This record gives sequence, C-alpha cells and structure tokens, in this order.
Amino acid sequence: MIDAADNVTPVIGLEIHVELATATKMFCRCRNHFGDPPNTNVCPVCIGMPGVLPVMNAKAVELALKVGTALNCTVAEFTKWDRKGYYYPDLPKNYQISQYDLPLSLNGWLEAPLAEGAVKKIRIRRAHLEEDAGKNVHDHPAHTGVDLNRAGVPLLEIVTEPDMNAVEEVMSLARAMHRLVRWLGASEANMQMGQMRFEPNINLHIAHGGAIHKTPIVEVKNLNSFRALERTVEYEIHRQYEAWQADPDGFRLEKMGKQNRGYDDAREQTVFQREKEEAHDYRYFPDPDLVGVVVDRPWRERIRAGIGELPLARRGRYMDGYKLTFKEADALTQDAATGDLLDSAVAAGADAKRCVNLLLGRGAAIANERGCSIAQIGITPAALAELAGMLSGGTINATAAAKVFDTVVLESGSPMVIAREQGLLAVRDGGAIEAWVDTAIAANPQAVADVQAGGKQQKKAFGFLMGQVMQLSRGTAEPGEVQRLLRSKLGIPVTD
Ligand SMILES: [Zn+2]
Repeated sequence: MIDAADNVTPVIGLEIHVELATATKMFCRCRNHFGDPPNTNVCPVCIGMPGVLPVMNAKAVELALKVGTALNCTVAEFTKWDRKGYYYPDLPKNYQISQYDLPLSLNGWLEAPLAEGAVKKIRIRRAHLEEDAGKNVHDHPAHTGVDLNRAGVPLLEIVTEPDMNAVEEVMSLARAMHRLVRWLGASEANMQMGQMRFEPNINLHIAHGGAIHKTPIVEVKNLNSFRALERTVEYEIHRQYEAWQADPDGFRLEKMGKQNRGYDDAREQTVFQREKEEAHDYRYFPDPDLVGVVVDRPWRERIRAGIGELPLARRGRYMDGYKLTFKEADALTQDAATGDLLDSAVAAGADAKRCVNLLLGRGAAIANERGCSIAQIGITPAALAELAGMLSGGTINATAAAKVFDTVVLESGSPMVIAREQGLLAVRDGGAIEAWVDTAIAANPQAVADVQAGGKQQKKAFGFLMGQVMQLSRGTAEPGEVQRLLRSKLGIPVTD
C-alpha cells in the first residue's frame, strides 16, 4: 500500500503505435492485410533485398496527417525519412524507415474525459510515420518462425508528454485515441490483430523529507489490450513504490536511468528486459533512397476541412442538443457512422430520444450479438425515422416496435408495412382490449385475489396480470388502456 504521507505522484506518458488502414504497405505495393498465410504479402522491398528502391505510399501520409491535425498538432511543411538502425530477425533490412528530427506532426493535444464531465488535456509531443516490423512466430517447439507480412505496414507512432498522473487518466487517453483513429478511418485499431499497441513510460515523483525523489523511468513494450495497459500501469506504480521504500537512496532515476520492461500476461507482472537505449544507439541518418515530403498549404487545408466533427464535440452536442445522458451520448459516439445514422433520422423529422431508445435498445443488442457497430446492423435513417414516428404518434407501442425493428434489420422494408402485415399496430379499440383483460382475469384467479387483497403482493400481481394481457395482445394493446380497464374490473383505484 502506498503511504499517503509520502505524497506519491505517478508520472506517465504513452507511446501509441497505430497501423494505418491502407490497402498496401508503406514503401511497396504488397497488400496490407492481417491474417493471410505467413510470408505471402512480401516482395524484395519489404524483405530487404539489396538494390531495391522504396516508393512512398501517399495514402499513409494522408491518414497520418489527418490524425495529426485532429490531435491539434502543428503539421510540418516538410518532412523526411530516416533510417533507424537495429538488428532483429523480424527486420531483415537491419534498419527501419522512420522519422527522426522532422516528424510529420508536433505539439498537439487530446482531451481525456474524466469522471463527472471533467477533461484533462494531454499534450502530444509528436506523431511520426514509420514502417512496422515483421513478427516472430513461436508456434513450433524446436524453432521460431518469422512472418514478414507485417514488415513495411505503415505505422503511426504517437508520443504524449508525461502528463498523466493516474491509471484512470492513462485509460481515458488510450480509449480517446482508439476512438479517434477509428473515427477518422485512419485505422481499424483492432488490438487482437495488433493494429494498436501501447508503450507506457512510468515513474514516480515522491515528496519525501523535503525533497522530490524520482524513481527510474520504466518503459513497458508492446501492450496489446486495454486490460494489459491498465494492469501494467497499476503494477508498475506499486512495484516502483515498494522498490523505492526498500532502497530510497539507490532506487533513483539519477542513479539507475531508464529501463525497458515487458509485460508477462500470465503472471500479471512486468519483467526487466534491458537498459533503455538512447537515440544515438540507433545511428539515425537520412534515407538516401527516399525524397522528403512537402506538405503544402492546400493539402493541409484540405485535410483540415475533411475532418469534420470529432467524437467529444459530437458527444457534447448530443447532450446539449438532443438532451441525451452522458451514457447515451457516449454510446452513440463510439464511431462516426452510428451518430450519422441518428443525425440523419432526426434530420428526417424523427424525435431524437425515440431514435436513441431504438438504437440503444434492440440496435445495441443486435450489434453486440454480431460483434459490429450499431450503424453496421443495417437499418436505414428513413426506416429508423419512420419507426420513431410511429412510436411518437402512438401507432405502435415499445414492445411491438422492438419486434418491427428486428424484422427491418433482417429483411429491410417499411416499418409501417411490416407492423401492419404482422398485426403489430397498436390496438386501442376498447372492445378488443376488454376481451383480453377478461380472459386474463378468468385464467389467473390467484393473481386476482392477490391484487384484491392489497398489501405487499398487490403490485407484483397487478404487474403479472398486465403482462398476461400484453401477451394475449401480442404486445399491441395500448398499455394505458389495459391498465385502466384492469383496475376498473378488479375494483382498485384507477390512479396510484
Ligand atoms: Zn513488399
């Protein structure tokens, strides 16, 4: 446990690697596609044959610019490519093409939403483009394989300032970044596929005995899930505090420098890997095979104009304009298309709240079953608006609307036509409802007795009878009318 008297402040920054959603790789025309058989998307360029020439993928630069602009960065007017030398089996060239001193984007920020509507602005130091390495495959007991399908896939590295001081802030920023790159169409950011990876750097500033003790900065490599990120940061905070307690004079940044550690998923611990390398270890130098990139003003402006409303702004608009709760607005701004669907239905004249109830009710349930976004389940804005209008006009009740929603998603078509065909339009005809009420009363003497006896069981028994009538009507009876008739026939007061 951390002793409150020590006044411990975690200081955390993040490096975030995002694979960009281009059709081809960064410097060759091989397919950028996850899950293909090993070494099928390779060519002399990306496996590092001598004498080949890389050619830059403009789409990757475009996507990286989009992210940099959305992160409020200053976008460079000129950027170039550098070789970062290191030797790994999954990097056959022995260097990675990256950007060293002239990154594409610099000095931006992203807001991390915290509890109760607060936000923290986390500064972005830089966002640069590079190529991904291949992957070592440990699926054979006697040897390790190397799959180079990933080698040369465009990778955006986003580096924050160490502005986060708590696990919650780290998680909020990571989630905001995930949402942003997906929103912009820059990456699918599927973490199981390694399309988004986190590398937190963590140390503690401990106010102790009139001085600030800083623990060694630890960078944890290659975290592939939000869960791993959260556990790692939590674990490191406690590990470093305990190590400092055991040796307050020795366990210090100025004595031990920086370290790389890895996360051991099974043990839920970080483990020491090596002393952290510095920039000079990589022998950066400009890539002689690639020309620099000029990002002129028209290009920058076109990117800026194409970005549109960002997720947090849209979430705010939904809360203010549509009067949604934070939770509703947040759920509808997980991706751009779901919010677009809602906005189009509202533009077609539908009531926002009714649309939201439909989308977050059956819509979210179906999306969850299918593992897709709400927008992807396949309801059109027109159908959504029509169904919401039927609810507003009392042509259908909520139970029946849910059934119509499911049919629209499965078969498409007009909600009104479907409701009519399936006999799901609201029944307000007193005669029909009275017949269902009489049937329910006759079939359930015990519930009737419980209602009439009053006391504890009354509410539950009444609800049961309501349910029976709604069932008999297949969800079409107007609930207010059912309630009124039931109360009058059972001889209990009409209002409660
Ligand atoms: Zn290639």
